[in-house]
Amino acid sequence: MGMTGPLFDSHMHTPLCGHATGLPREYAQAALDAGLAGICFTDHMPMPAWYDAPWRMRRDQLAQYVQDVQEAQAEFAGRLDVRLGLEADFHPGTERFVEEVLGAHPWDYVIGSVHYIGAWGFDNPEFIAEYDSRDLAGLYRDYYALAEGAAKSGLFDSIGHLDLPKKFGHRDPDGYAALHALDVIAERGLALDFNTAGWRKPVAEAYPAPDLTRQAAERGIPFVLGSDAHKPGEVGHRFTDAIKQIHDVGGRIVTYQGRVRHG
Ligand SMILES: [Zn+2]
Ligand SMILES: [Zn+2]
Repeated sequence: MGMTGPLFDSHMHTPLCGHATGLPREYAQAALDAGLAGICFTDHMPMPAWYDAPWRMRRDQLAQYVQDVQEAQAEFAGRLDVRLGLEADFHPGTERFVEEVLGAHPWDYVIGSVHYIGAWGFDNPEFIAEYDSRDLAGLYRDYYALAEGAAKSGLFDSIGHLDLPKKFGHRDPDGYAALHALDVIAERGLALDFNTAGWRKPVAEAYPAPDLTRQAAERGIPFVLGSDAHKPGEVGHRFTDAIKQIHDVGGRIVTYQGRVRHG
């Protein structure tokens, strides 16, 4: 994939979340086949039982997840660097629960994602009609206030799929709140999940958008490449395009190990 150094895919799931297919070893094999140097599993972390339960592992499955990833780690040792991470949710009021989970195992990398505005799971295709009854500018203001909350919580290494509300094509009409969120993300020293799943969604654009990629790079915010794979065939999806979008604006690509940034 060109002069970019060893490449990692640092956003992928496992069947424990209930909506992904393929064993960890199959994701690892797909990464090897794609010529990647490493991967980091970041499955949807357990949350309090009342929050989004069908879309994530339960707390009592966490040890199983860690074991599954560690088995893939051992199997691919010397061939592929397999790391252990989580995609956490930021949802006000759940911080203590998240803190307990983050303290329970030695994570390499933790993404902080916002999937809910209040009780509305806005990235769920089932609830897409809700966009029609919302003011888009207000929606984005609310969303980015939550993203800032995630950055300020001190719990996470990166912010997941920054401009996620655009997923079905509802684009941000002004962009001011996004820039303010980038200021906070830069100030707090977080990275951005450069998430190629957007290219597989109706919006047909990675998260973040090219202009936000530029704005982030100008603020010195680095990027962590992720396919957000929910099946092995998605590992490394469109990384050549991702690298181009990042390098075109002078952005940096990093990875995390033991929650320490590298690169
Ligand atoms: Zn998922
Ligand atoms: Zn997500």
